[in-house]
Amino acid sequence: MVADLPEYEIYAIKYAERTGTRGGIFMHADPHDAPLDMDYYVWLVRSAERSIVIDIGFGREEGERRGRTFLRCPAESLGLLGVDPVEVEDVIITHLHYDHAGNLERFPNARFHVQDRELEYVTGRAMTHAALRHAFRLEDVQEMVALVYGERVIFHNGDEELCAGISLHHMPGHTRGLQSVRVHSQRGWVLLASDAAHYYESIEQEVTFTTHENLFEMHESYRRLRRLGGAMTHIVPGHDPLVLERYPAPAPELSGIVARLDLPPAY
Ligand SMILES: [Zn+2]
Ligand SMILES: [Zn+2]
Repeated sequence: MVADLPEYEIYAIKYAERTGTRGGIFMHADPHDAPLDMDYYVWLVRSAERSIVIDIGFGREEGERRGRTFLRCPAESLGLLGVDPVEVEDVIITHLHYDHAGNLERFPNARFHVQDRELEYVTGRAMTHAALRHAFRLEDVQEMVALVYGERVIFHNGDEELCAGISLHHMPGHTRGLQSVRVHSQRGWVLLASDAAHYYESIEQEVTFTTHENLFEMHESYRRLRRLGGAMTHIVPGHDPLVLERYPAPAPELSGIVARLDLPPAY
């Protein structure tokens, strides 16, 4: 779409799910509480030259401890698309919540791309508050610090280009150093919001997600996603089951598991 930029294939892979209610997921939900499910995804971006993984999900034990339905190992599920996690060289961690940054050990040859502010946040004073640390897993944070010492973490400060056709965008609020990822594809730019917007309605209705570090910044990030991403058909929320409904599967046998985001959604 943009001359000279690589066009990446983009995939969302569902690895877990949870049944919930609007009242448990959004603040100020209407009093007639209704069911609202949550899907858990990892994302894969690839061209002929390289594969980049975005977030790596949680392990079975951690997921089940939190009452989630674990469907498949996020790292192994990359094999559905022919990618071996051992061979992956670059992993973008959008933020360090347990459902995005587990399984670090399953990518032994990867560099991990994180925002400066996220590492500061998860190792600093904020984590003395149970209300702020409950969605982090201590072992993930400890492992990430070990990776810093092992020179396998690449820090980013705010909005940066990772490589031609892939850029990182700081979207604070849900956590302090959350980043969304914008990827150039055959249908133009696609913005992977991750938890900057859990659902389509997060952006469309500006509903308040319960877990956040800074409510004002979270709402500012909803608006920034929209400015940056343009049409909602080019913005992909981080946990919405509608993603699998709207986007085509890359093959019939992957229906309900993998969505191809570089093709246009049905709506
Ligand atoms: Zn999160
Ligand atoms: Zn999440």
